[in-house]
Amino acid sequence: MGSRYERYDVVVVGARCAGAPLAALLARQGLEVCLVEKGEPASGTPSTHIFEADALAFLDSLGVLDELRATGAPLIARADARVGDLRWPATWPVRPGDPGGVMSVRRFRLDPVLAGAAQQAGAALLTRTAVTDLVRAEDGRVTGVRVSSATGGEETGRGGERVLRARLVVGADGRASTVARLAGARSYHVTPNQFALFWGYFADAEIGEPTFAFHRWADRVVLGLPTDDGLYQVQVGVDPARLRAFRAGLPGSLLEYARACEPVAKALAGARLVGEPHGMTHWKGYFREPAGPGWALVGDAGHFKDPTAGRGIGDAFLQAARLAETVTGHLGADAAELDEALRRWGAWRDAEFVEPYWFAAGIGSLAPLPAVLPEVLRGMRRAGVADSLFDMVNHRAMPSDIVTGPRLLAAVGRLLARGRVGVLREVARLAADDRRRRALDRHPRYEADSPRHEMS
Ligand SMILES: Cc1cc2nc3c(=O)[nH]c(=O)nc-3n(C[C@H](O)[C@H](O)[C@H](O)COP(=O)(O)OP(=O)(O)OC[C@H]3O[C@@H](n4cnc5c(N)ncnc54)[C@H](O)[C@@H]3O)c2cc1C
Repeated sequence: MGSRYERYDVVVVGARCAGAPLAALLARQGLEVCLVEKGEPASGTPSTHIFEADALAFLDSLGVLDELRATGAPLIARADARVGDLRWPATWPVRPGDPGGVMSVRRFRLDPVLAGAAQQAGAALLTRTAVTDLVRAEDGRVTGVRVSSATGGEETGRGGERVLRARLVVGADGRASTVARLAGARSYHVTPNQFALFWGYFADAEIGEPTFAFHRWADRVVLGLPTDDGLYQVQVGVDPARLRAFRAGLPGSLLEYARACEPVAKALAGARLVGEPHGMTHWKGYFREPAGPGWALVGDAGHFKDPTAGRGIGDAFLQAARLAETVTGHLGADAAELDEALRRWGAWRDAEFVEPYWFAAGIGSLAPLPAVLPEVLRGMRRAGVADSLFDMVNHRAMPSDIVTGPRLLAAVGRLLARGRVGVLREVARLAADDRRRRALDRHPRYEADSPRHEMS
């Protein structure tokens, strides 16, 4: 009928931050892996691309760090942080053996390096090939995928249609995951964005000592840092109430927002914008049911959070690494054992990322920053431990390790002593949010619809 059957141990759908490293790790363990990508990794994807110490350590272990450094992207060891009215220079926390603190490499450069690692490890990479359906056994278990190749022709069978059979199908196919939809994975903890996000690149910036500027104050979020090829990347959050004017004023409005942040203004003094600014105005954060009989979701396919926190890439690596261990440990077992191992992997995913998820939603929230948070950081700064805030961005500390009960109480006490009004109301609101989220953890509210995302 023009379809051909091929057998693999694992089919991974999507060849970017989650899928490509997963395929590399599995292939290195001797598994037969097919990595299916409907586009081309080198075409890039609409996303900024900041990643931190844990991600750098992972990329180093994957053996691709030299290739990434060859793009000209520096390893960044310094941060210039502002939270509310507190601003401080910081040293990015790293562990012994970490190659660096922060790096930013544009996706059209990063993603092909990851896909290349998968190929070098022995995975088959099919580009311009889309998964169109799941193949199931009589009992409903997923046993493969149906793909359609844009290139068609001899290699792919008549009409470019074929079936790839596998013991496991992993959807690493991003926010609009086909695998999630076809598997019927429901979303939960669904949270619409508040700030819109715009970003652009500047040549001839005054970079000096490579520094990651992260400023969140009033109704503003501005990030600036050097990226590959000698460019300086700027990212701003825009209140939807100002979106129409912001868009109409582009590219000047991007520059105006950026210049409100002192270190970014300094870097941009003699700089010029390269290309058009990019933007994303609507998205939803979510978790999706992570796995079922014969299938699993990794990276954005299973979980997306507010991008302002800069954690999607590093989290995709963490998930891929853990999933690779699970799969290599249990793929040879019977189906029930594999399913149980994947269920445990999914439980780990939720436990591991739920706190950072709500934290990211908070960073991206339009609500005024509660005054206790900068005050907690002020106390930490006096104790010489404020830089550990960034260990949270390294996914090596949880928000609850930073905003601890004793620190919160001490901050409230100091604010009350200074006669600050409304503090107790703020803390009560934080506590209520926390209770609501814990209740959602216990009883998730499921949604069947695919979250909506809009680029600008
Ligand atoms: C505006 C924005 C800014 C961001 N900024 C940052 C940041 O600074 N730092 C950070 O860490 N994270 C950031 N993120 C998050 C980050 O982009 C994602 O977390 C990351 O890309 C997840 O990688 P992934 O491999 O799971 O998915 P993706 O990168 O989305 O890759 C999925 C792949 O699957 C392919 N695919 C889809 N459907 C099919 C199909 N049917 N068949 C075959 N292939 C298919 C797609 O073509 C795509 O290549 C940002 C996200 C956005 C939207």
